[in-house]
Amino acid sequence: MRIDVVTIFPGMFEPVLGESIIKRAREQGFVEVELWDLRRFTDDRHRTTDDYAFGGGGGMVMKPEPIFRAVEAISSQASGGRVILLTPQGRAFNQDIARELARERHLILLCGRYEGVDDRVRARLAADELSIGDYVLTGGELPAMVVIDAVVRLIPGVLGQEDAPAKDTFGMGILEGPHFTRPREFQGMRVPDILLSGNHGAIAQWRRREALRRTLERRPELLKRINLDEADRELVREIVLEMMS
Ligand code: SAM
Repeated sequence: MRIDVVTIFPGMFEPVLGESIIKRAREQGFVEVELWDLRRFTDDRHRTTDDYAFGGGGGMVMKPEPIFRAVEAISSQASGGRVILLTPQGRAFNQDIARELARERHLILLCGRYEGVDDRVRARLAADELSIGDYVLTGGELPAMVVIDAVVRLIPGVLGQEDAPAKDTFGMGILEGPHFTRPREFQGMRVPDILLSGNHGAIAQWRRREALRRTLERRPELLKRINLDEADRELVREIVLEMMS
């Protein structure tokens, strides 16, 4: 996969791209990330990327020309990229969308700043608009990094078998259950005995039950979206009875 990012702050990305799983995925050739400094595509000596809003009202708006030029330059290197504008007005980014994007060969992420980007960018260039949540950040850089992180870890081979994303929260449609590591007892809190039993069948069933319990307690609406088999339905009935008693 190739991911191009258009931003006026390329330096913000280096620390994130240069650590941990994303760093390894880049080194191993699973993903190539190119940062494009939007100021390179300006044509004045102040390298201006924003201007006053037509109609007044204060605040600056990102100019369309440098963004169009940047996308043209990227497309001349690799055509057919899916252009995504990061905006709080976009569709809500989630694991399903991350999975969908992980199947793409080329993504182009456009980061806004100020009051946002000239709407002609959205109208002509953006195939998609994504929001990472119902709050407003100062720029699209952090949202772009969130999208990159969520997508790259889903590229087949990036995570080892042990950390298979299908086992994660949302990977299996529900929340994951609790995790424990050593020591067996910490500040009076003991790891559940079943996890020390060595009985893999019983451990798998306990994990499923705790995942269902967590989902029922925190995000019950998720259970409506997945097909529960008879064994799961029985576990849910037992958990509900426990919760009511
Ligand atoms: N005036 C815009 C509005 O009300 O919709 C908000 C602009 S925001 C201050 C500047 C830039 O940050 C946006 O163009 C977008 O790229 C990015 N941004 C802010 N919040 C975001 C979010 N929740 N998801 C994705 N991008 C966001």
